[in-house]
Amino acid sequence: MLRRGGLHRLSMLGAWVLGAAGVLVFGGAPCQAGDIWSDIVARCPSSPRSFEQVLTYLETLRGTGRVGLASIGVTHQGRPIPLVVVAQPAATVSETKKLFIIARQHGNEPSGTTAALALAEHFAVSQGVFEQEILKRLTFIIVPVANPDGAAAGRRANSKGVDLNRDWSARTQPETRAIAAAIEAWQPDAILDLHELPAATRRPAYQENFLETAGRSPLLQAGLCAATSTISRSFASWMHYYGYPCNVFYDYPGKSLALCHRYFGLALGYPAFLCEAKNGPAMTLARKAGVHILAALVIGNYLINSQGTTPLLAAQQAPSPPTEQAPAVKQQEVTVPPAPPPQPRVAVQALPPGETSAEAHRVQIEARVLDADNFSYLTVDINGRMRTLTNRSVHRIVIDTSTLGDGTHTVVVAAHSAGGGVIAQQTCELTIERGRLLVAK
Ligand SMILES: [Zn+2]
Repeated sequence: MLRRGGLHRLSMLGAWVLGAAGVLVFGGAPCQAGDIWSDIVARCPSSPRSFEQVLTYLETLRGTGRVGLASIGVTHQGRPIPLVVVAQPAATVSETKKLFIIARQHGNEPSGTTAALALAEHFAVSQGVFEQEILKRLTFIIVPVANPDGAAAGRRANSKGVDLNRDWSARTQPETRAIAAAIEAWQPDAILDLHELPAATRRPAYQENFLETAGRSPLLQAGLCAATSTISRSFASWMHYYGYPCNVFYDYPGKSLALCHRYFGLALGYPAFLCEAKNGPAMTLARKAGVHILAALVIGNYLINSQGTTPLLAAQQAPSPPTEQAPAVKQQEVTVPPAPPPQPRVAVQALPPGETSAEAHRVQIEARVLDADNFSYLTVDINGRMRTLTNRSVHRIVIDTSTLGDGTHTVVVAAHSAGGGVIAQQTCELTIERGRLLVAK
């Protein structure tokens, strides 16, 4: 728990601390001066820096006394792969929690670099008590440009044409090998990998900003599942608060480990997160970077408020509203009673499968949250396993019935408040025969 004091910034701190405990308390509109997320986003430039500009900029941060710089490897074309460590000089790094941030594996996705540098700058130069208190407990270890050759050329792959975020189980490239070695050396408490989604795409999962991480599974360590579950729910709530639509997708053992967050999460047991910021007309560089900055703050907040792998942050249920007592009234005072407030509810329906054979085994479930003023996010579980979490009140999930297997499957859709409590829930049963949806009820 961070030390309390009289500074306005600590009201925000209180919210973050409570957020980590599963109870988000927003004290009205955030005070601009006290809103650390807005302060960091304000440091983002309007256009991306070139790779050379990034190196020059990092040198200027070195002078703050809180920043260490290193090159952890060299690319095929001879560029250094920079590593930035932002730490409180008075703190012993091994006694702090460590958040490892990887930006721009895809060279044409600059918002991760922009976010990483804004975070580094903010914690490097801020004289605020709040920031210094955080740095006593949290060290940022940042690879701001994981793919320097791709960044210099403005393209996704590295100079050998390899998509680095498909290279993690094999690690054939100097970039993935260097970053894996740095992670092994630093042993971080969490890993965050920053990306961007194209504006135009037909893939349903790519329609909104999203976070992807390990789901709850008995095959994974309980502490890991507690961290990924709490952080992802907290992220969705804060995204809702800042006006961003977002989804969360959960991975389970058996998925391909070629992606960075799955390799470090499912194979090596780190709480690891893929953060995807959506491109679009309203998504300026700073707005996209804001998604990444929020993810880093939410994860950092979790880390500094958790002890080791103890699942301190087990979801707390928000108290249920008191049951309405019928008022005792005199006979002559009885008039038309006021209508009771509408109860929050979730409506679920299976949409008809498409007509083409490619779509016949895909069923779309539409969930709609109604009359829930305190709605924060929606979860979709299939057969007891959480598949998706979203902060949109209307959501369509696409299910491939051929992968579910024949039989009856239970889909539970639940709406949650910011505190994590379930405010409404609906169950839908899908009966599948020969890979096709037979009945949904
Ligand atoms: Zn990417």
